[in-house]
Amino acid sequence: MHKLSLELNNNNFYIKRDDLLPVSFGGNKARKAILFFKDLENKKADCVVTYGSSSSNHCRVIANIAAAKDLPCYIISPNEENHHTSNSKMIKLFNATVIQCPINEVGMTIENHLLELRRKDYKPYFIQGGGHGNIGTQAYVDAYEEILDYEEAFGQYFDYIFHTSGTGTTQAGLICGNLLNGDKRSIVGISIARKLEYGGQVVLDSVNSYLKSHGKSIVKPEKVCFTDDYILDGYSTYNEEILITIKDVLTKDGIPMDTTYTGKAFWGMKEYIKTNKIDRKKILFIHTGGTPLFFDSLEEINSEK
Ligand SMILES: *Cc1c(COP(=O)(O)O)cnc(C)c1O
Repeated sequence: MHKLSLELNNNNFYIKRDDLLPVSFGGNKARKAILFFKDLENKKADCVVTYGSSSSNHCRVIANIAAAKDLPCYIISPNEENHHTSNSKMIKLFNATVIQCPINEVGMTIENHLLELRRKDYKPYFIQGGGHGNIGTQAYVDAYEEILDYEEAFGQYFDYIFHTSGTGTTQAGLICGNLLNGDKRSIVGISIARKLEYGGQVVLDSVNSYLKSHGKSIVKPEKVCFTDDYILDGYSTYNEEILITIKDVLTKDGIPMDTTYTGKAFWGMKEYIKTNKIDRKKILFIHTGGTPLFFDSLEEINSEK
């Protein structure tokens, strides 16, 4: 947890640097992947199958850990989204097999590939895109516990936790941590692509799936604070203010953010705080990683005056 230089409505801003986790450039995908690979080893699987686009942080982390463990890695990727990024180049470097298919055939392609591997006597381990599922949720229940430990050690309390919401697993974990500890603070997921109706429902379903698997009763939609006010035109779209925000945080705090996830969400957080007139609070932003994407967008960030 580090204090940020941002000044807005007399709030105090802090950041949790999950981008500095010690595996494959860190980030929430690394935090989730560590738990998935533990499960893979418990189940004695001998190869891994997942999916995501060429710019996916998730696929890069999975391919990296699989290569380290000498496990074959197969990535199903929709061919519409295929362009060269730092992540796609690393996925190649890690020797993962990328299987492209039309976006509406992703589910079928995964099923067929799993069948084929089993037919060849492999024991594949499947990980949903983005590290979705109860294991991914667990990763951010753990992160929530780290926040509690920090608060106890330093006698602080964060009134708000803000973070980037994509597939919703990170948010689900934080909300579950909040509920299981009986805390009342707000956890605000800034959506970077999904609309409230679908995105909010996925978070709620993930929360309830995790709670059920732990023998707890399920919760109502009010427990999920997911905003789609800052998605602009959807995934990977950004505006000038986002570029200015990224440049600002990099210059003043030395922290890289990208235009698809953290920079967009950090800008969204500032707007949310202005709109909702939040003042004199302690606010924690979770940096969910994606450093290779920062380098992909460095030229655009640099062109901003
Ligand atoms: C995937 C991703 C997110 C979104 O996390 P979800 O758990 O899918 O909501 C946020 N930030 C970065 C950098 C990511 O790669």
